[in-house]
Amino acid sequence: MSVKYVCAECGKEYDITTRVFRCECGGLFDLGRFDISFSEKNILRHEWSLFRYLKALPFDDDVDVWKGITMGEGLTPIVPIEIANPNLLVKVDYMMPTLSFKDRGAAVLISKAKEMGVTKVIQDSSGNGGNSIAAYARRAGMECDIYVPEDTSEKKIKQISAHGAKVHIVKGTREDTAEEALKAVEAGKGFYASHVYNPFFYQGTKTYAYEVYEQLNGDIPEVLVIPVGNGTLLLGAYYGFNELFELGLIDKMPRIIAVQAEGCAPIFKAFKEGKNSVEEVTNLGTMAEGIAIAAPKRGKQILEAVRATKGEIIIAPEDKITEARKYLAQKGLYVEPTTAATYAGFLAYCKENKELVQEKILIPLCGAGLKSH
Ligand SMILES: *Cc1c(COP(=O)(O)O)cnc(C)c1O
Ligand SMILES: [Zn+2]
Repeated sequence: MSVKYVCAECGKEYDITTRVFRCECGGLFDLGRFDISFSEKNILRHEWSLFRYLKALPFDDDVDVWKGITMGEGLTPIVPIEIANPNLLVKVDYMMPTLSFKDRGAAVLISKAKEMGVTKVIQDSSGNGGNSIAAYARRAGMECDIYVPEDTSEKKIKQISAHGAKVHIVKGTREDTAEEALKAVEAGKGFYASHVYNPFFYQGTKTYAYEVYEQLNGDIPEVLVIPVGNGTLLLGAYYGFNELFELGLIDKMPRIIAVQAEGCAPIFKAFKEGKNSVEEVTNLGTMAEGIAIAAPKRGKQILEAVRATKGEIIIAPEDKITEARKYLAQKGLYVEPTTAATYAGFLAYCKENKELVQEKILIPLCGAGLKSH
């Protein structure tokens, strides 16, 4: 596969076998273009995981490392919340091996790392990302160190340890945690399997779009509501739908309505102020720990993606999260607070934008209720 890393800032190309995780200019890596020969006909219909879209993923046909790593992630149900409203759909993306959508990214990133001979990975996360990387890394026979902030849910920390990873609990903020992980990477202690830095993670999350396309028989939603912290699902979904658009499989991009937490909303702020880049904010605290990212590294790309779809960035009202969680549970869907926040944000937005109810809307349920407080 001739795909390269391309610096998002200066455009410099790097071979993907490099062990540096960002450009010498400090810019983040994107993945360069590669041939996607995807059509409905070449979905691998007997592969019951996101690798059924292998023809759209950056793997050579003769490489099958992923077969020993996949755990059947993806293929999550799309259901209406209430049968009376068939246009309001949720994609139950916590129905995954480690109970969050992060398995999409981890399955692809760890498969790629294994292909390149990586034996030890390092990652930092507020919980779910660490769970996913720990599980897939172990399955791939790699050593794994995960850095988490001290306020991470105990259940998530237990799960990371259960997968045999070493957990480093870092005092301070999510950003302090990232810094510790980065130090370890720079000291040569392992491959940085970061869901923020490594663009292969986004190749996994982009299967969200391919799945929606297949499951809804091409009749894709007009609106995608997506929670956003670092933007792994948002950018992945954007790349995926963009590819489907460029392939001529869909005739229009869905609008992306991104949801941030009230207590930590740097991308919302930049969006409202008409800025092209995101400035760090202070995290004032939120129940939505999964999207509380004060300094999102891909902020600029997230703003571009949302604007390109004529979308919107909105806030999840903190005092409505518990209520939204209860409501979803009454519909049979037990989610973690970050996911309830996504729904609470959507409801608040609907109140001001009544015309929205006439459109087909899809909301991902990203994290399972059992993993959180
Ligand atoms: C990671 C995560 C998010 C947000 O993803 P980002 O990549 O930070 O935008 C949302 N919900 C849940 C449950 C998560 O685990
Ligand atoms: Zn650069």
